Amino acid sequence: MAGLTLRHGCHQRCRRLEVEKVSGHETFRYERIGSAKSVLVVAPHPDDEILAAGGLLQTVREAGASVNVLLLTDGDNNPWPQRWLEKRLRINTHDRRRWAQRRRSESALALTRLGFSESVQTALGWPDLGITDRLLDDPQAILQPIRSLLSTWQPDLLVLPTLDDHHPDHSAARIVFELAMATMPVANRPTLLGYCVHGPHSSGGELRLPAEQAANKAYALEAHTSQLALSGGRLRRLLGRTEHFVEALPPPPAPVAARLLLPWRPWPWLGHSCELLVLSDPRTWRLPLIDQVQEGSLRLSITAEGLILHFDKRLPSPLFVKIRSRISTPWIYDSWNWISADDAARLTAAADSSSLAQAGTE
Ligand SMILES: [Zn+2]
Repeated sequence: MAGLTLRHGCHQRCRRLEVEKVSGHETFRYERIGSAKSVLVVAPHPDDEILAAGGLLQTVREAGASVNVLLLTDGDNNPWPQRWLEKRLRINTHDRRRWAQRRRSESALALTRLGFSESVQTALGWPDLGITDRLLDDPQAILQPIRSLLSTWQPDLLVLPTLDDHHPDHSAARIVFELAMATMPVANRPTLLGYCVHGPHSSGGELRLPAEQAANKAYALEAHTSQLALSGGRLRRLLGRTEHFVEALPPPPAPVAARLLLPWRPWPWLGHSCELLVLSDPRTWRLPLIDQVQEGSLRLSITAEGLILHFDKRLPSPLFVKIRSRISTPWIYDSWNWISADDAARLTAAADSSSLAQAGTE
């Protein structure tokens, strides 16, 4: 932990937060929580908004910001709690629709327990556990509605999952917004604060919740009765007294290099059971993990160094890559997280300069 702690100010309605033990840059970043005018919290599933940002939501409401909470899916691909609570083994389409409505209503009730009107909630009804595939299959169908909502709400603070969240809907949600915002002028883009529900916090800062906010958040979580039935212990442990956020740095210029070294060395026998997903706008690719496979302007080579992506020309930006298993298992979480082309380009440059230095000493 970077030793960054944020505390509420002395007055409940203060517009800025007291910030302790932070560098100038971090102070600048986190004051924006209290000074934001329009805040959008993105929840891939109902309950993410409370677990990740129940305190932040109260803080920005008390500071006078307008707030929207966007549910991407209704969390309806959730068969075991549904079987348990509804005492039925088989779940058909009609049952799933009813469960979706229940989870959407639980989210609305939770928001009222934090002092909001139900109207702050907007639900898109995207497929639960299917955001990645929808993005791969028809990116414009998923990006256009997001661009339209961003244009309507004009958030100056956008709270959304981090790219390294292990739930595939969460990391895909991050990519959806990064791609949607890539067409906006940089000056109009909101500050991005990332949260991670499934996985460790690698960096960033904490928002410490006053006792009253923590109690409100716990009360709001209890509205999600469908989730507490089987996962109450885990969800209540996630509540805590702090919330953790990572601010995205401004996007760097698009990498010029047309060669990216990826940070994975999968076993050769994985080639036919895994695929390499490459997402940009407007192109997406799905490649088998096979040496010298080529699709359009993109070629994959597998060397002793690792996986290398070659592009015919300058990389599209932003661009994201990950390995995904093609074998369906009950385990829904990612074994390999997405990496952005910017991060891969930094790794590539570091590996190249290390190889050069090694060659120089030989
Ligand atoms: Zn979720």
